[in-house]
Amino acid sequence: MVVGNWKMHGSSAALVELDGIAEAARHARVDVAVCLPATLLMAAAQRARDPIIGAQDCHAHASGSHTGDVSAAMIADAGARLTIIGHSERRRDHGETDAIVNAKLDTAIAHGLGVILCVGESEAQRREGDPAAFVCRQVAASLPAQARADRLMIAYEPLWAIGSGRSASGEQIATIHTDIRRAVQDRLGDQGADVPILYGGSVTGDNADAILGLETVDGVLVGGASLTAERLAPIIAAA
Ligand code: PGA
Repeated sequence: MVVGNWKMHGSSAALVELDGIAEAARHARVDVAVCLPATLLMAAAQRARDPIIGAQDCHAHASGSHTGDVSAAMIADAGARLTIIGHSERRRDHGETDAIVNAKLDTAIAHGLGVILCVGESEAQRREGDPAAFVCRQVAASLPAQARADRLMIAYEPLWAIGSGRSASGEQIATIHTDIRRAVQDRLGDQGADVPILYGGSVTGDNADAILGLETVDGVLVGGASLTAERLAPIIAAA
């Protein structure tokens, strides 16, 4: 699985990139999703079946007096099939705690969306202690115990690797992915064995082959390099 995250980038004119991304996905026969700003979801979903269209967040409540927010039902109604939840930029910019992320995940799944749950440690957390323990605590607290595993993916995104040009090493990824797998199974039981675990953080055409070649990696979540078909295509080909 290759998932693009456009963050707060893009415009209706930029949706033309989706055509090239769909073309690359067809050749590679791999699942590709692109998570877009809310304003672009409907136009993107109406454009074509591929790539899968996703959102970047949803509100924890199904509806109500929450000016400026977007609900999971609205995202589904716009034609998107999945959403990122708990991205570190949301946790940082909007003070999202594990408890909020947990509630959002529950609501998103209840409204039929697939969810990519993001977890990852900061540079200081890695330096000071045990990053795997921190990330596993995040997984346990962010995942509702009754979450449907067939709608779930986890993305391990160390904060220091996001947008820095410095991806985690193969060894760092493999170690934490193994611990995340255990944490997911502790939380969800046997069905946790099939939840895809992605890596994100400075994935490019240059390092995608090595990262996707790791046994523990089921896919990648790509920010900067997902903004154009030209940059995402080599990552899709690697997958
Ligand atoms: P990046 O972002 O690929 O630009 O590092 C990844 C992400 O934040 O999902």
